[in-house]
Amino acid sequence: MELMNIFGQTLPELTELVTGWGLPKFRGKQLAEWMYKKSITDFSQMQNLPKDLRQQLVQACVIDRAARVDQLNSVDGKTSKFLLEFSDGVGVETVLMHQPYGNSICVSSQAGCNMGCTFCASTLHGMVRNLTAGEMLAQTYYINDLLQKTGEKVDTIVIMGSGEPLTNYDNVLKYIRLLHEEYCLGMSYRSVTLSTSGIVPNIYRLAEEEIPINLSISLHAPENELRSELMPINRKYPMLDVVKAGGDYGAKTRRRVTYEYILIDGVNDNIQQAKELTELLKGQLASVNLIPINPVAERGWNRPSQERINAFEKYLAQHHVTVTVRREMGNDIQAACGQLRNKHLEE
Ligand code: SF4
Repeated sequence: MELMNIFGQTLPELTELVTGWGLPKFRGKQLAEWMYKKSITDFSQMQNLPKDLRQQLVQACVIDRAARVDQLNSVDGKTSKFLLEFSDGVGVETVLMHQPYGNSICVSSQAGCNMGCTFCASTLHGMVRNLTAGEMLAQTYYINDLLQKTGEKVDTIVIMGSGEPLTNYDNVLKYIRLLHEEYCLGMSYRSVTLSTSGIVPNIYRLAEEEIPINLSISLHAPENELRSELMPINRKYPMLDVVKAGGDYGAKTRRRVTYEYILIDGVNDNIQQAKELTELLKGQLASVNLIPINPVAERGWNRPSQERINAFEKYLAQHHVTVTVRREMGNDIQAACGQLRNKHLEE
């Protein structure tokens, strides 16, 4: 008999499981606490569960998490990238960054990605499959367990690893809700950021969920033609529709939407484009995060000079757009998503 993986199940689901076996409801809560609060994966260690139930769990269920295949640490010790593998052999990358404001992790929502963004290594081998809520939670617990050894924890989460989270909507939403549950990690929704390439209908849907997470939208160009070149999804969901949906999200949730903008030398970094970007976001509760690109040799793309980066940033700031330039972390360990996984796929 195939064992059922219960990691990633909600309290109502666990309660249904145990009551289906004729046991009282509170056994579901105890099971959730062992699995999520105490991070125990071995049923035999769940001491307050009756022996019969422990045996039944061993025979029918498994708590399937993720195993580490590889790890790279940056020289400055601030960033670690993990290649984690699930029981079917599918691997994903998860990144831990020690930020001034706490421990931030970057979680993958799909193995690979089929969005085809031209600057991204995650999409080179296409998409293998969606990840389940349990698999996203397993990435989180893998790192949280590591941090707990030194009395720390995961403080903030960005769903910005490989994959387009809004095309794996139900699993991603279940994961975010689980993070927030008191019996799980009890994280505030405000400490979670979802990053999308702009799946318009699901941005509107997310705004209705009444979970005030941060939304980050990959924009990368202030006009349609260039954006389609950089991000093929723009042909399906054009830039103006994406920005309108972002405006709706900001208005409904009162959360500032962040527009990610990769700066590529001579492609999207001139002052005219800074002006167009300013026009585009006028009146929105928005901010822009500029990300100077890591050079992509195959495409001849380079990082703009510091003067060009500063000039672009200055133009936005002077025109009342909240703007930040992403701090560079872990360049020496290929922090750009997908690169470590690709290395293993190609080996
Ligand atoms: S940037 Fe994000 S959406 Fe685009 S291909 Fe990479 S993982 Fe997919």
